[in-house]
Amino acid sequence: MNWNIHETDKLYNISRWGEGYFTINKKGHLCVLTNKTASGPCIDISDVIEEIENHNIQFPVVIRFHDILRSQVININKMFAQIIEEAKFAGRYLSVFPVKVNQMREVVEEILDAGTPYHLGLEVGSKSELLAALSFNLGQQALTITNGYKDEDFMRLALLGRTMGKNVIVVIERFSELQELVDLSKELNVEPMIGIRAKLTTEGAGKWCGSSGEHAKFGLTIPEILQVIKFLEKNDLSHALKLLHFHLGSQVTDIRVIKDAVTEGARLYAKLRKIGIPIEYFDVGGGLGVDYDGSQSLCDSSRNYSLIEYVEDIVYILKQVCDLEDVDHPHIVSETGRAIASPHSCVITNVFGQITPWSHSDTSLLLKSPGEHVLVHDMREIYNELKATNIQEIYNDATQKKEEMISAFKLGIISLSDRAKIEILYWRTLNKIRDLSKSGDASQEFIQGLDEKLAVKYLCNFSVFQSALDTWAIDQLLPIVPIRDLHHRPTVQATIADITCDSDGKIDKFISGSGGNNNKIRRTIPLHEIEEGQPYYLGLFLTGAYQDIMGDNHNLFGSLNEVHIYADDEDPTDFYIEEVIKGHTTEDVLSIVQYSAIALASNVKKTIDKQIKRKRIRPREGVRLTDFYEQCLRDYTYLKK
Ligand SMILES: *Cc1c(COP(=O)(O)O)cnc(C)c1O
Repeated sequence: MNWNIHETDKLYNISRWGEGYFTINKKGHLCVLTNKTASGPCIDISDVIEEIENHNIQFPVVIRFHDILRSQVININKMFAQIIEEAKFAGRYLSVFPVKVNQMREVVEEILDAGTPYHLGLEVGSKSELLAALSFNLGQQALTITNGYKDEDFMRLALLGRTMGKNVIVVIERFSELQELVDLSKELNVEPMIGIRAKLTTEGAGKWCGSSGEHAKFGLTIPEILQVIKFLEKNDLSHALKLLHFHLGSQVTDIRVIKDAVTEGARLYAKLRKIGIPIEYFDVGGGLGVDYDGSQSLCDSSRNYSLIEYVEDIVYILKQVCDLEDVDHPHIVSETGRAIASPHSCVITNVFGQITPWSHSDTSLLLKSPGEHVLVHDMREIYNELKATNIQEIYNDATQKKEEMISAFKLGIISLSDRAKIEILYWRTLNKIRDLSKSGDASQEFIQGLDEKLAVKYLCNFSVFQSALDTWAIDQLLPIVPIRDLHHRPTVQATIADITCDSDGKIDKFISGSGGNNNKIRRTIPLHEIEEGQPYYLGLFLTGAYQDIMGDNHNLFGSLNEVHIYADDEDPTDFYIEEVIKGHTTEDVLSIVQYSAIALASNVKKTIDKQIKRKRIRPREGVRLTDFYEQCLRDYTYLKK
């Protein structure tokens, strides 16, 4: 069959998860369309890699496309503005970016900058995040929302923000927090802005459904909310209750859950307004999903709705309830993080090798030799008898023979060379069966089973625990695509192994292309054959939310080198590297676990000096070795190419 870039697009589902930001050019390279249109800048990721190589920046690398970040911020704000106008809704939309999704200063700054015309604010869940948030210059109308459990200092910081003239809202998660806040604001003579997080009965859908519902960790029940109101009235602070908040959990897969929650939340808002509480902001939390696999389905790594549906449901349901209850329309706030941040960054890793169970090419082992065990003879017959019409039968026979061989080996009645022959013959048989089955009428399941058995492990220079944590922790799917060669058909069924010494350091669940069995998880990914001496790069995409900030230092692999890219239509390559941020050095990660590089180097030097004294090493060699050790401390933690 003829192969072309459209086939590749279908195979990796690029158009569907890429939402217009990704495309393949004529050279077969993956490209980024920062404006989602071919008439805007088109950044060839391969060019970016070339420039990274020219700068001697080592892989793996995080590439951040700042234009995507900006575009995402603008899209959601424009969408809300448009629907609000269409619906003749009286409130405005204000988004707050939840910084836990990506705390990196450059990312937050870019989001705030793009969000300035829309009064975009920040959401924080810890003192550290609040400290960072207070340092940013937000617009007059922008909000700073503090969620999560709070101690006295947390509240003092929030009130400090009020003194600085910021709209810092303290969202009350527990009644005791309210008492503390009211006491502190009296002490400091600062007017607080208060929010309440409601525990709705609507439960989320997807991996984070535990964030909502009656048994959620956060939020106040209706009796508790009434208690809050009584307390505020007693303290003459009802007017300070500005915001009603709920959060369904991240990555809500089902639009019905959002409709339900907004309906319940809207009623709550209306009833509170009716008893005289002047709530101004209706905060729907986060949860807007990302279609990581492009299946637009109820899969955990997908969502069954689009941005416009999400926005329409919120605006129209809220409006309807408010109008029925005859209360003012509030401003709508959303704490959308994942959907804004995920597409802007990707991880580029280089494949540096592969392992297969049959990589053995020494055919001399296959020659008949005198005194061979009968099992070798049998396996050779099985291999020779294979034809298109008997693949299932041969498959069963080969599997059985191999098992017999293992038993015989354990009993000590088969030699090493006979065992080697049988193994080689077995894998050859399976490979041939797979080739034959593709042209024959074997079932899809049979072929997939063979693909899994025969999958080649591509060894990739990265750590799953640093760069794709959720693929390990919660079986999240991430789109993975080769950067070049996309005009050629990928012929190898592969899985991915990272460089940690952890057998969980792998990716063996992949999105399935739109051409095939949609929304079914694949256990292998089709990749190109790697050629000796030719670099082969893979990109892990949609990693900008949570993934690239939550990773850990398993095996002391540290943070990644980062390259920050801006589009520039005037430039021949359509981009420029605005900033390079170096990842952790070995020294950095060692210091996290309390090793001092100076002490390490000095200890090693002492030992080498002793060896010199004992005349085991020449002094010149000793100096060279010490220098080498020290150089390694300053180097990147990943494999050098
Ligand atoms: C994590 C979190 C968010 C962000 O949710 P996304 O699904 O990433 O948009 C928003 N609000 C609260 C309270 C959160 O805890």
